[in-house]
Amino acid sequence: MVPVQPERPGAGAAERGPGLGGDLRFSTELISFEQDPDGVTATLLDRGSERRSTVRADYLIAADGPRSPVREALGIGQSGRGELFHNVSITFRAKRLADAVGDRHFIACYLTNPEADGALLPVDNQEQWVFHAPWHPEHGEPLEAFNDERCAQHIRTAVGMPDLEVEVTGKAPWHAAERVADHYSDGRVFLAGDSAHEMSPTGAFGSNTGIQDAHNLAWKLAAVMGGWAGPALLETYGMERRPVAQATSARAAARSAEHSHPGYSAPVTEGQGPQSNVMAVAMGYRYVRGAVAGADSSAPAVPDHFTVSAEPGSRAPHMWVHRCGVRLSTLDLYERTCVLLTGPGGATWHEAGRRAADALGVPLDCYRVGEGPDHELAPEPGTDWAELHGTAPDGAVLVRPDGFVAWRAERSVPDPEAAMTRALREVLRLDG
Ligand SMILES: Cc1cc2nc3c(=O)[nH]c(=O)nc-3n(C[C@H](O)[C@H](O)[C@H](O)COP(=O)(O)OP(=O)(O)OC[C@H]3O[C@@H](n4cnc5c(N)ncnc54)[C@H](O)[C@@H]3O)c2cc1C
Repeated sequence: MVPVQPERPGAGAAERGPGLGGDLRFSTELISFEQDPDGVTATLLDRGSERRSTVRADYLIAADGPRSPVREALGIGQSGRGELFHNVSITFRAKRLADAVGDRHFIACYLTNPEADGALLPVDNQEQWVFHAPWHPEHGEPLEAFNDERCAQHIRTAVGMPDLEVEVTGKAPWHAAERVADHYSDGRVFLAGDSAHEMSPTGAFGSNTGIQDAHNLAWKLAAVMGGWAGPALLETYGMERRPVAQATSARAAARSAEHSHPGYSAPVTEGQGPQSNVMAVAMGYRYVRGAVAGADSSAPAVPDHFTVSAEPGSRAPHMWVHRCGVRLSTLDLYERTCVLLTGPGGATWHEAGRRAADALGVPLDCYRVGEGPDHELAPEPGTDWAELHGTAPDGAVLVRPDGFVAWRAERSVPDPEAAMTRALREVLRLDG
């Protein structure tokens, strides 16, 4: 059970959900839930008909936003610096602004006029725009003060065009905060998205972090429900995701400081580091504890710089390969099962992986990367699988369905089947 929004029905869930076995209900509110050792029972209210109904499910995922009634009901607290700043977003039309912007294309332009600061965002790069104006309720400034004339005047001053014709079309207040839930789950209920973490929008990490939550949790639920992982695998969800959210929300706040986000009076120590490395945050985060074996537990959840190393806990690298004449990325192999990749000298790992997985009942796709008929994947000329994956040619890499490296053997070992069995058991919590 997750809340969905109907605004863009073609965008994914609404179109594809039913085909995938989902039951999508719009204008429906979860008003209460109860969990027991076998599942969760939720009471729903159809806001149109006022009809109540119940849904019984194995698990409940609370993707119910920053105010998360489910998180509140569970009594899960939040940690972090709390509210950082407040803005009012103003949507407006101004035809002549495009002349001033000219050929400059941007996602957000920070305007630092001390008389009227703000962030300007294009909607169509022609006449529709958004302006984030600072708002200071902490100093008693009422929202009503943002009338159309004041907003228009603020925009004119900020962009330096005193005669600009501005038609305000909408206003919405919002708050930037840095808060992370103290726990990501309680029994059969999991928090995901803003219910688990709030962060400043600078850096555009918010939705991304929520989608990462879903990506992390989905395969674990599938594995546990499919019987090929122990229930304790679900405990690794918060273990992995919470440190990433803490580090990401701190980076987001630091980026707000770096960009002098309107309304944000950052502490003097903030905004001095390598925060502008968006790739390190968006792609370089890693799971140093959780469903991984042999990860460096002293490594930061979000590094200062983005590197692709294939170390356990990090994202598996991309490499172009050919399978039956079709060119694909190795990343396309990581979807529903664990994957064992071996290099040109990895035949023993390949066989051992199959035997270990069969004995444990774990779905495992095994691929050998190299030239010739014994290899399922042919590398592109000039690429070196072993070097890219940080192993010798007789090494092996186990990748999770979410594309993160679960375990790595740098070279062959005397008993590869025992090593594979240990790795799969540890990663999938099969001993619990
Ligand atoms: C100005 C601004 C700009 C941003 N820009 C970016 C960006 O560029 N990139 C990015 O990645 N992120 C961005 N973000 C962050 C992003 O908007 C949020 O991280 C994201 O919307 C969170 O999604 P969510 O589904 O977790 O929560 P929400 O979007 O809050 O959705 C939760 C939904 O649950 C519903 N709900 C709540 N309770 C119940 C209930 N009991 N029953 C049924 N439904 C319920 C709510 O009505 C809501 O529809 C921005 C945020 C702001 C404020």
